[in-house]
Amino acid sequence: MKLLEDKIAKDGTVLPGNVLKVDNFLNHQVDTKLMDEVGKEFARLFKDEGVTKVVTVESSGIAPAMMAALHLGVPMIFARKHKSLTLTDNLYTASVYSYTKQVSNDISVDKRFLDSNDKILIIDDFLANGQAVSGLLEIAKVANVDVAGIGIVIEKSFQKGREMIEEAGVRLESLARIASLDDEKVEFVKD
Ligand code: 5GP
Repeated sequence: MKLLEDKIAKDGTVLPGNVLKVDNFLNHQVDTKLMDEVGKEFARLFKDEGVTKVVTVESSGIAPAMMAALHLGVPMIFARKHKSLTLTDNLYTASVYSYTKQVSNDISVDKRFLDSNDKILIIDDFLANGQAVSGLLEIAKVANVDVAGIGIVIEKSFQKGREMIEEAGVRLESLARIASLDDEKVEFVKD
């Protein structure tokens, strides 16, 4: 998505450890017009898949997931993060290791919000090693819901996430794909 790549090239900064900082339009301050376009694009890509709900992880996935859900005309659910869960009877849970924060969190979705008639679209801001997406796929499995696909705003294609998702046989659509962040420069994957 050209608009998104231009924004990343203009406003993204590269931090040590191959981390792309985009907190002035996605991860802290949110560019609502850009997010609207992101949501429209996800809705266009997945409109024929029978999506009943969009699912993400708090907090950075919420903005793009919200816009995708709005344009698909379905609810959005954000899995909540907790350090460690004790009372889990009414929750679907999975453990997720955070690439940027280097800690594990349990993520959970209340059982009331997913049932076996649902077909979910998973959305996240970044795909790095695929831990967050794996957690959501695990929740989908235990909740017995179908997965229509995965929509990612920024994929770091030099990390393992895409491979993991392709092995799982799930459709993946990333709106910007980054080939490298070496030398503090953003290189996009060439089509
Ligand atoms: P994964 O679970 O695929 O390894 O990493 C995805 C999660 O880590 C995303 O939800 C995002 O919050 C965070 N993340 C991974 N890489 C980056 C990055 O380069 N920049 C930012 N801002 N977040 C990242």
